[in-house]
Amino acid sequence: MTTPQTTPHTVGFKPGERNVFLHILTACNLSCSHCYINPDQHGRTMLDREQLASWIRLFSDPSRQSNIIFLGGKPTMHPDLVYGIEVAKESGFAVTVDTNGYLLHDFLERVNPAHLDYLSFSLDGPDPAVNDPIRGDGVFEVCTANLKKAVAKGIPTSLIYTVSSRNIDHLHRMVPLVAELGVSRFFIQVIGLRGKSAGTGPGDAEPLQVDPQKWLSVVPEVARRVAETGITVIYPKVYLDRGERFECAGNVAENFFVFPNGRVYQCPLCEDYPVHSYEIRDGRLTEVDGLTEKRFFALDIPEGCVMNKLLQPDTITCDSSGAPVHRVSCCLLKQRLG
Ligand code: SF4
Ligand code: SF4
Repeated sequence: MTTPQTTPHTVGFKPGERNVFLHILTACNLSCSHCYINPDQHGRTMLDREQLASWIRLFSDPSRQSNIIFLGGKPTMHPDLVYGIEVAKESGFAVTVDTNGYLLHDFLERVNPAHLDYLSFSLDGPDPAVNDPIRGDGVFEVCTANLKKAVAKGIPTSLIYTVSSRNIDHLHRMVPLVAELGVSRFFIQVIGLRGKSAGTGPGDAEPLQVDPQKWLSVVPEVARRVAETGITVIYPKVYLDRGERFECAGNVAENFFVFPNGRVYQCPLCEDYPVHSYEIRDGRLTEVDGLTEKRFFALDIPEGCVMNKLLQPDTITCDSSGAPVHRVSCCLLKQRLG
């Protein structure tokens, strides 16, 4: 038996690897308080069956490691999701589907488990009392029941816990739960700066974002304890250590965040603004002229991520000399254990 790896290591950006985050619709059956979907910017449509296949093939490149993540809204609301997964697999992608736990259209019965590299469930609390005020009444029970069914079918599963001020104090209680549920990977996600989460949630007196001290005092320790149970844990780096090199994924990695209105971003933090790098026009990936996110990627500032500085400057604290105490890493840089 091998000893679980319980020391975090930074997963650098892999040159040549391609990640495609394909939002196949923006509609959803839930209305989470931190939802990042912004229909004014991302559209309200759903890809039709033909578009779905042609957009997947547009990004396929069998000569390199390519990963596709089917997203929504809620991807299992799409009647052709299983078809899309088949096309993606034929096109050489490693396939992940993100779900809020509601598996519609007989998804588990229709999908071929061998076509799924991961089915990823979202849960924001260790029990209904914490999860359901954030994600909706009854969601905890549905999500955990469907996760267990997926595990029983032999589908590799992961669980995403989005940390905010509303649930960080309950994160430690996920340690026994993720082991009991039988998930293969546990993602601890930081609350985004996009969509609804950019502000305060309904009924919240304080911002949803957690401050650096709180994050650093809670998340690495919980990650270590989960990893001790043999489960892989991934969480965002968020703060760079002194001497660590800052890299913007927009410059050194190949990530495409694709929306049903044809916008294609390279940076998730830019998704609330019309600064996308590309658009899909007439079935082709076309570079957008003018002020796009690429201009931000080129800026080199001591605080690290430019978009973080623009969107939430209050989170950056400086020492008496005016230098930032923490440099904020690219939001796509991860720590991994196990
Ligand atoms: S499940 Fe996802 S898409 Fe649906 S409301 Fe929640 S965060 Fe938004
Ligand atoms: S999050 Fe920041 S560092 Fe990462 S791609 Fe966007 S702008 Fe670049």
